[in-house]
Amino acid sequence: MAIDSNDYSRLSPAARLFLERSHGHFIDGQWQSPTASIAVLDPSSGRQISAIGAGSAADIDGAVQAAHRAFNHPSWRGLAPLDRERLILRLAELIEANAALLSQVESVDNGMPLGFAEINVGGAAGVLRYMAGWPSKIVGDTVDVKMPFPGSQFFAYTAREAVGVVGAIVPWNVPLMMAIWKLAPALAAGCTVVLKPAEDASLTALILADLIQQAGFPNGVVNIVTGYGAEAGEALVRHPLVAKISFTGSTETGKYINRLATDSLKKVTLELGGKSPTIVFDDADLEQAIRGAANAIFTNAGQICVAGARLYVQRRVYEQVLEGVARQADSLQLGAGLNAGSQMGPLINARQLERVQGYVQRAVQGGASLVTQGRSPQGGGFFAATAVLADIKQGDDLVQQEIFGPVLAVLPFDDLEEAALLANDTAYGLAASVWSRDLSRVHRLVPLLKCGKVSVNTEGFPYPALPEGGTKQSGFGRDLGREGLDGYLESKTVLVRIS
Ligand code: NAD
Repeated sequence: MAIDSNDYSRLSPAARLFLERSHGHFIDGQWQSPTASIAVLDPSSGRQISAIGAGSAADIDGAVQAAHRAFNHPSWRGLAPLDRERLILRLAELIEANAALLSQVESVDNGMPLGFAEINVGGAAGVLRYMAGWPSKIVGDTVDVKMPFPGSQFFAYTAREAVGVVGAIVPWNVPLMMAIWKLAPALAAGCTVVLKPAEDASLTALILADLIQQAGFPNGVVNIVTGYGAEAGEALVRHPLVAKISFTGSTETGKYINRLATDSLKKVTLELGGKSPTIVFDDADLEQAIRGAANAIFTNAGQICVAGARLYVQRRVYEQVLEGVARQADSLQLGAGLNAGSQMGPLINARQLERVQGYVQRAVQGGASLVTQGRSPQGGGFFAATAVLADIKQGDDLVQQEIFGPVLAVLPFDDLEEAALLANDTAYGLAASVWSRDLSRVHRLVPLLKCGKVSVNTEGFPYPALPEGGTKQSGFGRDLGREGLDGYLESKTVLVRIS
């Protein structure tokens, strides 16, 4: 089976023009030409469609210096909270006004179906709108201080202040959304930002730079430097003027970044990998649960941090659910993001395709049963067949390791206690979803699950007011919600003697 690559006649003139443009780094409100470049490949064909800058330590230094100046400049620091709100809302409006351009470029850069890109672009605007409401509501506490000093009186309060320059490092899987998850709360808190998008999908971040300028943010408040992690990313983590690193990416890189950041005692938020379980009890609405379990792993070809990569099914309905999910997997139409009817796009690059296929091959060689048809698509694109695997053991790599592809491991369980044990038995602790009509069962299980988010009778989609993040090897800190904002604020205690 061969799959067509993207049909570029579907691109708008604005998107075509953007791809043809030469791209630089956005530093201090100016575009700066890069000294080296990285080819941008369309994952549906493997062909080069554009180029981005390979940022150096010097580029990062320029961006951090600009962010540092902007943080202390009255045009940003002195801005009234309601004016910060206005700027953030303006950016949300501009994202909505440019939704077609952003979605098309996201789709050809990352490979995701256009419809999914549109949802993400709308979602990114929603996160900005949610965070825009916070600047005027950032408050501290007043504290009654009574000391046994005769005749003396005290008054104390805490103030919540922006942490300073934020280094935001994001992955390629939902590029614009991940960038906004960092930018929106950082800006709401009053921080300034240097964003380092992923080398595999940076294009929508560069459109965002134009929109940030149009929205009227003072120069230097947001700076965007593209490039490789080991060079631009690491320079950002090491920079002494960066107060906080907000990172989303793999657990391995997150641990390394955390070690580096410790040298300068930076604050760190780590949103890392996952191997999230979907747990289906025998009393669940099986039709919904089957659809939900399939969506949880096959959305964005499994390249979602909270992807439901392990499916545990109560034994009485195990065969029924396994077959149902495999049927859903086989019915998904693989295709290039722009092309009509595509439900699942390619993986991000050749390395990832090889990695994902390697996991499936090794599992089958080790005795696992491939329940799906597993037809490997032909052609130059990085398309992976959906794979649903059974007859596996809890200790297998397929169950324990994050694959980040459309690969689902299905195992049976007998009772609630076993479901909790199996669900918790990986290094990760990001998310889980539980399917059951029995409320008591659900609420006995939820506290037993060691993870940052549990979804009940639904897949775990993100919502701006709900914190996202993990425990264990899935990291610490939260994006979104009030806790997301808190990560960009620190507390100052003020003790005043009034007599
Ligand atoms: P990755 O760790 O390879 O890269 C992520 C980012 O870190 C990229 O921008 C990269 O350039 C940068 N980077 C790499 N090495 C670096 C270094 N030494 N110093 C500084 N920066 C460096 O991850 P990826 O493959 O791009 O993304 C996939 C991973 O992201 C998966 O593990 C997925 O689970 C995770 N993810 C987590 C969440 C979440 O909210 N928990 C969300 C999305 C993705």
